[in-house]
Amino acid sequence: MKIHEYQAREIFRDHGLPVPRERVAATPEEAEAAARELGGTVVIKAQVHVGGRGKAGGVKVTKSPAEARAAAEKILGMKIKGLEVRKVLVAPAVDIDHESYVGIIIDRASRRPVLMVSAAGGVDIEEVARETPEKIHKVRIDPRYGLLTHQAMGLGFALYHDLDRARAAAGIFRGLYAAFEAVDASLAEVNPLVVTREGELLAIDAKVNLDDNALYRHPRFESLRDPSSEEPGETEAREKGLSYVKLDGTVGCIVNGAGLAMATMDLIKYYGAEPANFLDIGGSSNPEKVVNAMRIILSDPNVKAILFNIFGGITRCDDVANGIVTALKQLEVGVPLVIRLTGTNEKEALDILASVGLPATNSMDDVVQKAIELAQGGTQ
Ligand code: GDP
Ligand code: MN
Repeated sequence: MKIHEYQAREIFRDHGLPVPRERVAATPEEAEAAARELGGTVVIKAQVHVGGRGKAGGVKVTKSPAEARAAAEKILGMKIKGLEVRKVLVAPAVDIDHESYVGIIIDRASRRPVLMVSAAGGVDIEEVARETPEKIHKVRIDPRYGLLTHQAMGLGFALYHDLDRARAAAGIFRGLYAAFEAVDASLAEVNPLVVTREGELLAIDAKVNLDDNALYRHPRFESLRDPSSEEPGETEAREKGLSYVKLDGTVGCIVNGAGLAMATMDLIKYYGAEPANFLDIGGSSNPEKVVNAMRIILSDPNVKAILFNIFGGITRCDDVANGIVTALKQLEVGVPLVIRLTGTNEKEALDILASVGLPATNSMDDVVQKAIELAQGGTQ
């Protein structure tokens, strides 16, 4: 789950990071009042769940409350990478001498959190990683011991030559790791960590992604969710107990089991097309889940065919078949369906489908190729 910068700043502050204070405003008037309260010169920042707001014009340094109001007026309602800005953050503007990057992510290869820093901060870190990877310094963190002092100091010196500053940076890294661990984050990032003209270190941007699989341990974070910033289908799927991720292709997939869902997507790609989604209807699929899954997939206008790939174990194929029949009655299904049902109660399922004139097969290659052909406008 993604959260907003103002929410991530609060988490960082709780763990001792030097984060300037801020206000959140939803109107230009509120931004103006916040600027006055914070002392006049402020930065106005779009609150949306994407990076690169600066480049997109979503971050503006202003010199007076009136300018703050004008900047907020411009930024509120703006779209950044497709997301509408509904709130802005107002924070005291900082005089920046230097910008660094500091971030922690989970490295799947070593199965550990990795702390990464770069003195080439502020800008797109992906670009630095691509063009000048030697400018990124990393340490792997053993979760049993946490970030060790010598590791933190080593990276502190990678950013700053001055001993006191390296020490201060090391303290910030330790705080960042403490925050990362405490909230079960999958990513925690300060970009930029700045040195001000006065020589002070400040974290002036904050990004935290929370690990969805650990959210049950943090019920209070449910209130941080901003459904207006999420893909509508994904919100509905979560509420209906389905795991769904929207993708950009044209072949909709309804599959049971995450492994089979991945294999199905792989096969679609193998045959030269793109899946429209990942969707796992789970183990015990009652017919209603199938109807919900179809409704969510059909709400994506890119979908040109729907492929069912069901392996009946605990899932009963006849339940899924009944779900398909119900969906055809309840929904306006304007795209062709291609169905593979195999396993528990397969025969009953095929009879149910045959009664409404739907064919099904049990070859995975065949159904994937057929679905692609139909999605690309072939004949039925
Ligand atoms: P992002 O582009 O979404 O990562 O948003 P950031 O919060 O990182 O802001 C982008 C850039 O705006 C930073 O890298 C800074 O160069 C600049 N910026 C942000 N806050 C301030 C500030 O208080 N003063 C100055 N002078 N520049 C700022
Ligand atoms: Mn940033």
